[in-house]
Amino acid sequence: MAAQGKCLCGQVTYRLDTEPSFSGVCHCKSCQLQTGSAFSTLVGIPAAALQIQGTLTCYEDTSSESGNGVDRYFCGLCGSPIYSSLRANRDMVYIKSGTLDDSSDFQPQAHFWCDSKQSWVILNDAVPTLARQP
Ligand SMILES: [Zn+2]
Ligand SMILES: [Zn+2]
Repeated sequence: MAAQGKCLCGQVTYRLDTEPSFSGVCHCKSCQLQTGSAFSTLVGIPAAALQIQGTLTCYEDTSSESGNGVDRYFCGLCGSPIYSSLRANRDMVYIKSGTLDDSSDFQPQAHFWCDSKQSWVILNDAVPTLARQP
């Protein structure tokens, strides 16, 4: 099953040619700033399995607390964040799951960077939490 997704304006569409190998929620401050929200919901897949149509803009984020650079790709027209990739491992990409056409299957396997989690966010005890990065 190939999942598909798109940005808010539809200029960027994408297809995932494989099942996700990871799903999680990132509560780091950089994700809060980029999304304007409380966290990022992420689906990890091998970079080679992501097929993009349209033009993405990349912000090279060097502010992360981990000290590792993160390339954050988004639609330059409507601003939807589409995916990010860690400079330390470009073989994986992390899709923002809210951009999937069907995100109903999304179930986080872990919450990370919980040190900067917003206080109103109540987590499910059954899902592992990490204070910082995986
Ligand atoms: Zn767009
Ligand atoms: Zn983050």
